[in-house]
Amino acid sequence: MPLWGAIEAGGTKFVCAVGAGPDEWLQEIRYPTTNPADTRGQAVDFFRRHHRRNPLTAIGVGAFGPVDPDPRSSTFGYITTTPKPGWQQTDVVGTLRRALELPVGFDTDVNAAALGEHRWGAAQGLETFTYLTVGTGIGGGGMADGRLLHGLIHPEMGHISIPHDLARDPYSGCCPYHGDCLEGLAAGPALQERWGAPAQSLAPDHPAWSLEAHYLALGLSNILCILSPRRVIMGGGVMLQTHLYARIRSELRQLLNGYLQAPEIIDRMDEFVVPPRLGQKAGICGALALAMAAVS
Ligand code: ADP
Ligand code: ZN
Repeated sequence: MPLWGAIEAGGTKFVCAVGAGPDEWLQEIRYPTTNPADTRGQAVDFFRRHHRRNPLTAIGVGAFGPVDPDPRSSTFGYITTTPKPGWQQTDVVGTLRRALELPVGFDTDVNAAALGEHRWGAAQGLETFTYLTVGTGIGGGGMADGRLLHGLIHPEMGHISIPHDLARDPYSGCCPYHGDCLEGLAAGPALQERWGAPAQSLAPDHPAWSLEAHYLALGLSNILCILSPRRVIMGGGVMLQTHLYARIRSELRQLLNGYLQAPEIIDRMDEFVVPPRLGQKAGICGALALAMAAVS
Protein backbone atom coordinates (compact mmCIF):
# COMPACT_ATOMS: atom_id res chain seq x y z
CA MET A 1 0.00 0.00 0.00
CA PRO A 2 1.50 3.41 -0.96
CA LEU A 3 2.48 5.73 1.87
CA TRP A 4 1.91 9.48 1.76
CA GLY A 5 3.25 12.49 3.59
CA ALA A 6 0.88 15.26 4.69
CA ILE A 7 1.57 18.73 6.10
CA GLU A 8 -1.00 21.01 7.64
CA ALA A 9 1.06 24.19 7.54
CA GLY A 10 -0.72 26.60 9.88
CA GLY A 11 0.32 30.05 11.00
CA THR A 12 0.33 28.83 14.61
CA LYS A 13 1.40 25.21 14.30
CA PHE A 14 2.61 22.67 11.75
CA VAL A 15 1.27 19.12 11.70
CA CYS A 16 3.29 16.59 9.68
CA ALA A 17 2.00 13.05 9.27
CA VAL A 18 2.61 9.86 7.32
CA GLY A 19 -0.31 7.67 6.38
CA ALA A 20 -1.80 5.21 3.94
CA GLY A 21 -5.31 6.72 4.10
CA PRO A 22 -7.55 9.03 6.16
CA ASP A 23 -8.00 6.34 8.85
CA GLU A 24 -4.55 4.83 8.56
CA TRP A 25 -2.01 7.21 10.06
CA LEU A 26 1.35 5.77 11.07
CA GLN A 27 3.02 8.75 12.68
CA GLU A 28 2.41 12.41 13.37
CA ILE A 29 4.35 15.34 14.81
CA ARG A 30 3.09 18.80 15.80
CA TYR A 31 5.23 21.82 16.54
CA PRO A 32 4.85 25.60 16.67
CA THR A 33 5.36 27.63 13.51
CA THR A 34 8.53 29.61 14.28
CA ASN A 35 10.84 30.92 11.53
CA PRO A 36 10.71 29.44 8.00
CA ALA A 37 14.12 27.72 8.14
CA ASP A 38 13.52 25.83 11.39
CA THR A 39 9.88 25.09 10.66
CA ARG A 40 10.57 23.66 7.19
CA GLY A 41 13.68 21.89 8.53
CA GLN A 42 11.67 19.96 11.11
CA ALA A 43 9.28 18.78 8.41
CA VAL A 44 12.14 17.67 6.16
CA ASP A 45 13.82 15.75 9.00
CA PHE A 46 10.57 13.99 9.91
CA PHE A 47 9.79 12.86 6.36
CA ARG A 48 13.42 11.97 5.59
CA ARG A 49 13.51 9.55 8.53
CA HIS A 50 10.41 7.82 7.23
CA HIS A 51 11.31 7.90 3.61
CA ARG A 52 14.59 6.05 4.29
CA ARG A 53 12.78 3.15 5.96
CA ASN A 54 9.40 3.19 4.20
CA PRO A 55 9.51 5.14 0.94
CA LEU A 56 6.79 7.76 0.49
CA THR A 57 5.03 8.23 -2.85
CA ALA A 58 4.33 11.97 -2.56
CA ILE A 59 3.75 14.76 -0.06
CA GLY A 60 0.79 17.12 0.15
CA VAL A 61 0.81 20.55 1.81
CA GLY A 62 -2.17 22.70 2.79
CA ALA A 63 -0.72 26.05 3.82
CA PHE A 64 -1.71 29.33 5.45
CA GLY A 65 -1.48 32.14 2.98
CA PRO A 66 -1.72 33.96 0.80
CA VAL A 67 0.10 31.36 -1.32
CA ASP A 68 0.95 30.82 -4.98
CA PRO A 69 -0.97 27.67 -5.97
CA ASP A 70 -0.32 27.96 -9.74
CA PRO A 71 1.99 25.12 -10.92
CA ARG A 72 2.95 27.20 -14.00
CA SER A 73 4.24 30.08 -11.91
CA SER A 74 7.91 30.55 -10.94
CA THR A 75 6.80 31.05 -7.34
CA PHE A 76 4.51 27.99 -7.22
CA GLY A 77 4.39 26.59 -3.71
CA TYR A 78 5.44 29.81 -1.99
CA ILE A 79 3.74 31.49 0.93
CA THR A 80 3.73 34.99 -0.55
CA THR A 81 2.42 38.26 0.95
CA THR A 82 1.48 36.92 4.36
CA PRO A 83 1.41 39.40 7.25
CA LYS A 84 3.12 36.73 9.39
CA PRO A 85 6.56 38.19 10.24
CA GLY A 86 9.48 36.56 8.41
CA TRP A 87 7.31 34.36 6.20
CA GLN A 88 6.91 36.57 3.14
CA GLN A 89 8.04 34.84 -0.08
CA THR A 90 8.82 31.51 1.60
CA ASP A 91 9.40 28.60 -0.75
CA VAL A 92 7.66 25.58 0.79
CA VAL A 93 7.32 23.17 -2.15
CA GLY A 94 10.83 23.74 -3.54
CA THR A 95 12.44 23.06 -0.15
CA LEU A 96 10.59 19.76 0.21
CA ARG A 97 11.19 18.68 -3.38
CA ARG A 98 14.91 19.35 -3.25
CA ALA A 99 15.37 17.68 0.15
CA LEU A 100 13.21 14.60 -0.47
CA GLU A 101 13.07 14.30 -4.26
CA LEU A 102 9.35 13.57 -4.16
CA PRO A 103 6.31 15.02 -5.95
CA VAL A 104 4.66 17.66 -3.78
CA GLY A 105 0.98 18.69 -4.02
CA PHE A 106 0.22 22.15 -2.68
CA ASP A 107 -2.77 24.40 -2.07
CA THR A 108 -4.32 26.71 0.49
CA ASP A 109 -5.25 25.18 3.84
CA VAL A 110 -8.93 25.65 3.03
CA ASN A 111 -8.75 24.11 -0.44
CA ALA A 112 -6.88 21.19 1.12
CA ALA A 113 -9.61 20.74 3.73
CA ALA A 114 -12.21 21.05 0.97
CA LEU A 115 -10.51 18.30 -1.04
CA GLY A 116 -10.39 16.05 2.03
CA GLU A 117 -14.10 16.64 2.69
CA HIS A 118 -14.85 15.95 -0.97
CA ARG A 119 -13.03 12.62 -0.91
CA TRP A 120 -13.99 11.33 2.50
CA GLY A 121 -16.30 13.77 4.28
CA ALA A 122 -19.28 16.08 4.04
CA ALA A 123 -18.82 17.03 0.38
CA GLN A 124 -18.77 13.55 -1.16
CA GLY A 125 -20.59 13.55 -4.47
CA LEU A 126 -20.83 17.36 -4.63
CA GLU A 127 -19.06 19.13 -7.46
CA THR A 128 -19.73 22.69 -6.24
CA PHE A 129 -19.38 23.50 -2.55
CA THR A 130 -17.63 25.88 -0.18
CA TYR A 131 -15.37 25.21 2.81
CA LEU A 132 -15.09 28.11 5.25
CA THR A 133 -12.83 28.16 8.30
CA VAL A 134 -13.39 30.54 11.20
CA GLY A 135 -10.32 30.50 13.42
CA THR A 136 -7.39 32.88 13.84
CA GLY A 137 -8.48 34.19 10.46
CA ILE A 138 -11.37 33.45 8.13
CA GLY A 139 -10.64 31.67 4.88
CA GLY A 140 -12.69 30.00 2.22
CA GLY A 141 -12.05 27.45 -0.49
CA GLY A 142 -13.97 24.71 -2.21
CA MET A 143 -14.86 23.46 -5.64
CA ALA A 144 -16.72 24.70 -8.68
CA ASP A 145 -17.74 22.01 -11.16
CA GLY A 146 -15.39 19.50 -9.55
CA ARG A 147 -12.29 21.70 -9.62
CA LEU A 148 -10.68 23.35 -6.63
CA LEU A 149 -11.25 27.12 -6.66
CA HIS A 150 -8.28 29.08 -7.96
CA GLY A 151 -8.03 32.23 -10.01
CA LEU A 152 -5.68 35.12 -10.41
CA ILE A 153 -4.45 34.09 -6.96
CA HIS A 154 -7.09 32.28 -4.91
CA PRO A 155 -10.30 33.33 -3.19
CA GLU A 156 -9.96 35.38 -0.01
CA MET A 157 -13.46 34.96 1.36
CA GLY A 158 -12.49 36.26 4.80
CA HIS A 159 -11.77 39.71 3.42
CA ILE A 160 -15.15 40.51 1.90
CA SER A 161 -16.91 43.64 3.12
CA ILE A 162 -20.13 43.22 5.03
CA PRO A 163 -22.51 45.77 6.58
CA HIS A 164 -21.20 46.97 9.93
CA ASP A 165 -23.76 48.69 12.16
CA LEU A 166 -21.58 50.84 14.43
CA ALA A 167 -24.48 51.49 16.79
CA ARG A 168 -24.90 47.77 17.49
CA ASP A 169 -21.17 47.01 17.35
CA PRO A 170 -18.74 49.92 17.83
CA TYR A 171 -15.70 47.59 17.60
CA SER A 172 -13.62 48.77 14.64
CA GLY A 173 -12.33 45.34 13.54
CA CYS A 174 -8.86 43.77 13.64
CA CYS A 175 -7.89 43.13 10.01
CA PRO A 176 -4.55 44.92 9.45
CA TYR A 177 -5.57 45.60 5.84
CA HIS A 178 -9.29 46.44 6.03
CA GLY A 179 -10.30 46.85 9.66
CA ASP A 180 -13.88 45.64 9.59
CA CYS A 181 -13.94 43.08 6.79
CA LEU A 182 -15.58 39.73 7.66
CA GLU A 183 -12.35 38.41 9.21
CA GLY A 184 -11.76 41.70 11.03
CA LEU A 185 -15.20 41.44 12.66
CA ALA A 186 -15.74 37.72 13.13
CA ALA A 187 -12.45 35.74 13.42
CA GLY A 188 -11.37 34.48 16.86
CA PRO A 189 -9.09 37.45 17.65
CA ALA A 190 -11.95 39.89 16.88
CA LEU A 191 -14.15 38.11 19.44
CA GLN A 192 -11.36 38.30 21.98
CA GLU A 193 -10.68 42.00 21.40
CA ARG A 194 -14.33 43.04 21.30
CA TRP A 195 -15.37 41.18 24.43
CA GLY A 196 -12.08 41.22 26.36
CA ALA A 197 -11.92 37.44 26.78
CA PRO A 198 -10.87 34.50 24.58
CA ALA A 199 -13.67 33.24 22.34
CA GLN A 200 -13.59 29.81 23.96
CA SER A 201 -14.37 31.36 27.37
CA LEU A 202 -17.59 33.11 26.26
CA ALA A 203 -20.70 31.23 27.47
CA PRO A 204 -23.20 30.03 24.84
CA ASP A 205 -25.74 32.65 26.00
CA HIS A 206 -23.22 35.52 25.74
CA PRO A 207 -24.37 38.29 23.36
CA ALA A 208 -21.14 37.69 21.41
CA TRP A 209 -22.70 34.72 19.66
CA SER A 210 -25.80 36.31 18.15
CA LEU A 211 -23.58 39.04 16.67
CA GLU A 212 -21.09 36.42 15.49
CA ALA A 213 -23.84 34.41 13.80
CA HIS A 214 -25.12 37.60 12.18
CA TYR A 215 -21.71 38.42 10.65
CA LEU A 216 -21.05 34.87 9.50
CA ALA A 217 -24.52 34.66 7.92
CA LEU A 218 -23.90 37.97 6.13
CA GLY A 219 -20.66 36.49 4.78
CA LEU A 220 -22.44 33.30 3.73
CA SER A 221 -25.26 35.17 1.97
CA ASN A 222 -22.65 36.89 -0.23
CA ILE A 223 -20.84 33.62 -0.86
CA LEU A 224 -24.13 31.93 -1.82
CA CYS A 225 -25.00 34.70 -4.26
CA ILE A 226 -21.59 34.55 -5.94
CA LEU A 227 -20.62 30.86 -5.90
CA SER A 228 -23.94 29.04 -5.56
CA PRO A 229 -22.49 26.21 -3.49
CA ARG A 230 -24.55 23.05 -2.98
CA ARG A 231 -23.32 22.91 0.61
CA VAL A 232 -21.22 25.06 2.95
CA ILE A 233 -18.89 23.29 5.37
CA MET A 234 -17.83 25.51 8.28
CA GLY A 235 -14.83 24.53 10.40
CA GLY A 236 -12.10 26.17 12.49
CA GLY A 237 -11.73 26.82 16.21
CA VAL A 238 -14.62 29.29 16.56
CA MET A 239 -17.05 26.77 15.03
CA LEU A 240 -16.33 24.44 17.96
CA GLN A 241 -19.18 26.53 19.46
CA THR A 242 -21.64 24.10 17.92
CA HIS A 243 -24.66 26.25 18.88
CA LEU A 244 -23.47 28.65 16.17
CA TYR A 245 -24.65 26.38 13.34
CA ALA A 246 -28.35 26.71 14.21
CA ARG A 247 -28.01 30.46 14.76
CA ILE A 248 -26.20 30.94 11.45
CA ARG A 249 -28.79 28.89 9.55
CA SER A 250 -31.61 30.93 11.02
CA GLU A 251 -29.91 34.30 10.30
CA LEU A 252 -29.06 33.15 6.80
CA ARG A 253 -32.65 32.17 6.09
CA GLN A 254 -33.78 35.63 7.17
CA LEU A 255 -31.14 37.42 5.10
CA LEU A 256 -31.90 35.46 1.93
CA ASN A 257 -35.58 36.26 2.47
CA GLY A 258 -36.84 33.47 0.22
CA TYR A 259 -34.97 34.69 -2.84
CA LEU A 260 -32.79 31.63 -3.44
CA GLN A 261 -35.49 29.03 -4.07
CA ALA A 262 -33.87 25.63 -3.61
CA PRO A 263 -35.15 22.86 -1.32
CA GLU A 264 -31.61 22.50 0.02
CA ILE A 265 -31.92 26.02 1.43
CA ILE A 266 -35.64 26.29 2.12
CA ASP A 267 -36.33 22.80 3.57
CA ARG A 268 -32.97 21.27 4.41
CA MET A 269 -30.87 24.09 5.79
CA ASP A 270 -29.45 21.78 8.48
CA GLU A 271 -27.81 19.72 5.73
CA PHE A 272 -26.74 22.84 3.88
CA VAL A 273 -24.58 24.59 6.51
CA VAL A 274 -22.67 21.80 8.22
CA PRO A 275 -19.51 21.04 10.22
CA PRO A 276 -16.64 19.14 8.56
CA ARG A 277 -17.33 15.41 8.76
CA LEU A 278 -13.60 14.83 9.19
CA GLY A 279 -13.76 17.15 12.21
CA GLN A 280 -10.36 18.34 13.44
CA LYS A 281 -8.74 15.98 10.91
CA ALA A 282 -10.07 17.88 7.87
CA GLY A 283 -6.80 19.78 7.37
CA ILE A 284 -4.38 16.86 7.60
CA CYS A 285 -6.68 14.54 5.59
CA GLY A 286 -6.86 17.30 2.98
CA ALA A 287 -3.08 17.44 2.77
CA LEU A 288 -3.12 13.65 2.31
CA ALA A 289 -5.61 14.07 -0.54
CA LEU A 290 -3.31 16.68 -2.11
CA ALA A 291 -0.42 14.20 -1.95
CA MET A 292 -2.56 11.58 -3.73
CA ALA A 293 -3.67 14.16 -6.31
CA ALA A 294 -0.04 15.10 -6.99
CA VAL A 295 0.58 11.75 -8.72
CA SER A 296 -2.85 10.96 -10.14
P1 ADP B 1 -5.88 28.32 13.31
O1 ADP B 1 -6.80 29.34 12.77
O2 ADP B 1 -4.61 28.92 13.87
O3 ADP B 1 -5.64 27.18 12.39
P2 ADP B 1 -8.06 27.47 15.00
O4 ADP B 1 -8.93 27.12 13.85
O5 ADP B 1 -8.08 26.56 16.20
O6 ADP B 1 -6.56 27.66 14.61
O7 ADP B 1 -8.53 28.91 15.48
C1 ADP B 1 -8.02 29.53 16.63
C2 ADP B 1 -9.05 30.57 17.08
O8 ADP B 1 -10.25 29.90 17.42
C3 ADP B 1 -8.62 31.37 18.29
O9 ADP B 1 -8.93 32.74 18.06
C4 ADP B 1 -9.44 30.80 19.42
O10 ADP B 1 -9.80 31.80 20.35
C5 ADP B 1 -10.66 30.27 18.72
N1 ADP B 1 -11.18 29.08 19.38
C6 ADP B 1 -10.53 27.92 19.63
N2 ADP B 1 -11.31 27.05 20.29
C7 ADP B 1 -12.50 27.66 20.44
C8 ADP B 1 -13.75 27.28 21.03
N3 ADP B 1 -13.91 26.10 21.64
N4 ADP B 1 -14.75 28.18 20.99
C9 ADP B 1 -14.59 29.38 20.41
N5 ADP B 1 -13.45 29.80 19.85
C10 ADP B 1 -12.42 28.95 19.86
ZN1 ZN C 1 -9.39 42.01 5.70
